[in-house]
Amino acid sequence: MALVIYNSLSRQKEVFTPIQPGRVHMYVCGPTVYHDAHLGHAKTYINFDTVVRYLRYRGYRVLYVQNITDVGHMLDSGEDRILKGSQREQMQPMQLTEYYTRRYLEDMDRLNVLRPDIQPRASGHITEMISWIQRLIEAGYAYEVNGSVYFSVAKDEDYGKLSGRQLEDSLSGTRVDVLDEKRDPADFALWKNAAPEHILHWPSPWGEGFPGWHIECTVMSTKYLGQPFDIHGGGVENKFPHHESEISQAESASGVPFANYWMHNGMLFIRGEEMHKSLGNFITLKQAFERWDPMMLRFFMLLSHYRGPIDFTEESIGAATRGLERLTNLWYSLIQRLPSAPEGEVDPEIAKLVETTTASVIASMDDDFNTPGAIAALFDMTREMNAIMADRDPSAGSLELVRTFMAGFMEDAIGLQLPSEDSGAGADKAGALVELLLETRRELRSAKQWALADEIRDKLTALGIELRDSPDGTTWKYV
Ligand SMILES: [Zn+2]
Repeated sequence: MALVIYNSLSRQKEVFTPIQPGRVHMYVCGPTVYHDAHLGHAKTYINFDTVVRYLRYRGYRVLYVQNITDVGHMLDSGEDRILKGSQREQMQPMQLTEYYTRRYLEDMDRLNVLRPDIQPRASGHITEMISWIQRLIEAGYAYEVNGSVYFSVAKDEDYGKLSGRQLEDSLSGTRVDVLDEKRDPADFALWKNAAPEHILHWPSPWGEGFPGWHIECTVMSTKYLGQPFDIHGGGVENKFPHHESEISQAESASGVPFANYWMHNGMLFIRGEEMHKSLGNFITLKQAFERWDPMMLRFFMLLSHYRGPIDFTEESIGAATRGLERLTNLWYSLIQRLPSAPEGEVDPEIAKLVETTTASVIASMDDDFNTPGAIAALFDMTREMNAIMADRDPSAGSLELVRTFMAGFMEDAIGLQLPSEDSGAGADKAGALVELLLETRRELRSAKQWALADEIRDKLTALGIELRDSPDGTTWKYV
């Protein structure tokens, strides 16, 4: 069975065929580091981290490049994001980008997003950008005016092939003075003449200035991945003009295709609305981690297909919390039971269950990285495993089979960190101690010593051990 990817360029699912067999060269647009990362960033980078992880799980050698935009990204108002940030924080621009780059990486680490193999910074690739712009001028695709250089969209017949859009204005061109100097309002800046108050500028053949945002990605992706490369990813909100312009710059200068597969992830909404500071619904990851467990947030993002939008509401977060709990409870049961499980043959029902679940998660993920499909298969397995374990005491080999599958798929392929096995192997002793306390609590309760029984429960809760009373007795788990 082949891996299939929805290619935004052809607007259909295609069988994935890498340029070099067994290897994948992949690029994803990185953050502009002028502010803390927010929940929308979490969705994008978890989505693409899962793609990278799953490709590796399937045996591909992946070279993953994701840039850091530390110069050149303008707001719709024409203001420079980095400069605006430096004024806000009273920091030098490079101090600001360093500060927020570190904080971004911290956030991604907590979400178990693997660091890209190469994380180039735009400010470190100015010479390459200048050469690329020169090639575009020489080939007749770009023109210089007042120390700025613009890409002439009309010269590229293919412009619009990704987004289906052509005539709309590009991001950097909304200011009137900029509009005046462009030949066509759709043209976009490759190089901007630095205004006197602009601190970040470099010498160029056109005078002091700084690069446009789109050229950064064209230059840094092809520098490390070659041209063409296999997969280019990014948020759907960047399809136009950013990705469209990346393609145009790359292909006009060389006549060679840029990237073979384009992947776009859908947006995150907060209670049905786009996240905006002005709406008061802007949630940074640092704020989110104060309230929610990072692994639960990751799980929440994986419960929806990467291409779709996702709505962050109390209800959807609650559903994700309960869902992840079901899976981790099975994990705890396995590692608690394993040390004392009987020797013997592998339970045929469990062997079959692991086999069908493995086939099912791979079939889902091979179908354009369908994580909700894979998670549904994990839930099915959990339900059946719980029934089997309630019914009998499976052999250690059988439990180990499930444990190995869960660790391999959940941790490696989709990046869901399971609680450490030490906490379970420690179940040897810690578990025995908890059981002892539970027995004492049972005796206290039958002697109607409610206050003391509750005190045991509260003290265990304070230690991160949650008790659940049911008619069948009391169960416990680490939280
Ligand atoms: Zn980009």
